[in-house]
Amino acid sequence: MNAETSIVTLARSMEVAYSALDAEAGLFYDTTVRVKVHADRYYPDYVAVTLLWLASDHIFHGIEEFTRFRDDFEDRPEERYQQIMDSWPQVFGATEKAMKKLFAPVKPVVKRPPWSLCPRCHKPVWAEEGTVDLRETRLLLKARPHPLWCRVCGQRFEYANSDSLACSSEFSIKETMATLESMFPTEQPSFETLQIESGHDAGEADNG
Ligand SMILES: [Zn+2]
Repeated sequence: MNAETSIVTLARSMEVAYSALDAEAGLFYDTTVRVKVHADRYYPDYVAVTLLWLASDHIFHGIEEFTRFRDDFEDRPEERYQQIMDSWPQVFGATEKAMKKLFAPVKPVVKRPPWSLCPRCHKPVWAEEGTVDLRETRLLLKARPHPLWCRVCGQRFEYANSDSLACSSEFSIKETMATLESMFPTEQPSFETLQIESGHDAGEADNG
């Protein structure tokens, strides 16, 4: 087993409803919550990531509520997740329901690598199709060849075997076309270009 474990810090910005007074005074608050996890480990790290993702749905009423939450959350969430959920029902709702999200079964990713999306939050596993260039995409794949779970929502990914990430097995031609277009954006002649070309040909034929 590979002993190398990489610790990453994942951060999410929370929504905090400021008081009108603070807004008027132009006060700025850091509303980020951070969690340190081992990217090469399953439990309990993905659980902490899911908990952070669930919390980001909540709008905190004022900076005081947020600060209390952040200080509680950032204290070993991977060990204390049950306690954190019980202490913050206004953030996580019913514990039983939240638990189902924390311990959701593994799922195949949507779309083939390198543009696979998380099956739960639909964020890119590596790179965003059509936005990140191929060179950078290759580097991202090389850096993380075996993502165990989503770094946004903590959803665990299914592997067909130790080396092969499972992905949705059906692909539409539309999806394939979109993939090709984002790979070779400049080499795809547009519909207009094709029309101009054929128009030009016709003109030449008339002249001759
Ligand atoms: Zn996700």
